[in-house]
Amino acid sequence: MQPIHKSQKLANVCYDIRGPVLDHAKRMEDEGHRIIKLNIGNPAPFGFFAPDEIIEDMIANLQNASGYTDSKGLFAARKAIMHYGQEKQLPTVGMEDIYIGNGVSELIVMAMQALLDNGDEVLVPAPDYPLWTAAVSLAGGRAVHYLCDESVGWMPDIDDMRAKITPNTKAIVVINPNNPTGAVYPVPVLQAIVEVAREHGLIIYADEIYDKVLYDGVTHTSIASLAPDLLCVTFNGLSKNYRACGFRAGWMCVSGERKHARDYIEGLNMLASMRLCPNAPGQYAIQTALGGYQSIDDLVLPAGRLGRQRELAYQLLTDIPGVSCVKPQGALYMFPRLDPAVYPIKNDQQFILDLLLEEKVLLVQGTGFNWIAPDHFRVVFLPNTDDLTEALGRVANFLGNYRKR
Ligand code: PLP
Repeated sequence: MQPIHKSQKLANVCYDIRGPVLDHAKRMEDEGHRIIKLNIGNPAPFGFFAPDEIIEDMIANLQNASGYTDSKGLFAARKAIMHYGQEKQLPTVGMEDIYIGNGVSELIVMAMQALLDNGDEVLVPAPDYPLWTAAVSLAGGRAVHYLCDESVGWMPDIDDMRAKITPNTKAIVVINPNNPTGAVYPVPVLQAIVEVAREHGLIIYADEIYDKVLYDGVTHTSIASLAPDLLCVTFNGLSKNYRACGFRAGWMCVSGERKHARDYIEGLNMLASMRLCPNAPGQYAIQTALGGYQSIDDLVLPAGRLGRQRELAYQLLTDIPGVSCVKPQGALYMFPRLDPAVYPIKNDQQFILDLLLEEKVLLVQGTGFNWIAPDHFRVVFLPNTDDLTEALGRVANFLGNYRKR
């Protein structure tokens, strides 16, 4: 028998959050080890469940949900999304501009498949949520990474962004609030990005899936609200704001200047039709979620569970010699730095695997987020304070031994 190979299309596609180290952790669990997992931003396993009202409404609608829906999604769900878009001041979003998907993930892949020809370039942040880079590569494009600058709270480096534009550049991806850094961009930073897009006629893809997961009273502005003259696609969903990752309910809103983008939009419509429709039960959750008071507001307050866990994780991490960290203003993550003078790491995947083997704690290495050097890792602060204390204590122990080597 001939060996069966994966397609060439996958040659440059990589998604390390669920990569080889996770496979290793699963094998260890099968052997009976208890692993503390700080690796995936999935709230439910840590006791952050979707609000009851959403679940009850979904159950009540299960019978109605047994058929296909419109390929862009249910009218009532899209109407609720349209209102949400209006609240966020997305310019001129109508019902036809909203696409519901099986999570934002499906729509990111769809948006890139509809846009890119081989060799087209998309500016993606470094570090990034790596699905963006993977989706660009899968579509035949090239993700060109612009730096976010840790020394200024992980804000995008606008000069670097500008320097990386070529005649092949089609779009800029903005992840705000950011995964993995937790940065939330203020209006002047967003305006500077819009200016770059305007100068070069680029599409803006805005991943705003954490737009309600905000700490210390910061507010979130949708970049599309600042760019009525540009084509923007804004992504959001129930996974994080409503702790409902498993419902696979996400959406994207096309906004701004669309006259020159009719062909692209036709492409999006075709891909939406080809997947028939997003899962219907998840769509029934959207209207209830967006219409009611079930958001994450109470959890992110300083005394709320997420607020407390963020503070604890930040303190425990920054107490470790040679570890520094920008305190996140949004999302569920921290992206600490390991001083290379103290921890001269060559291969951060190996480093994270060694941590797993020695201390049974699972993290994701910084290069898994397309970071440029093996000197960062990502911590998910969803586990409760006891587990966080134990896990980060073990990380401190591992790093202490590393320093003695
Ligand atoms: N975008 C970002 C920045 C994320 O962190 C995630 C998941 O962690 C997603 C998108 C995927 O979201 P969904 O569950 O809607 O597919």
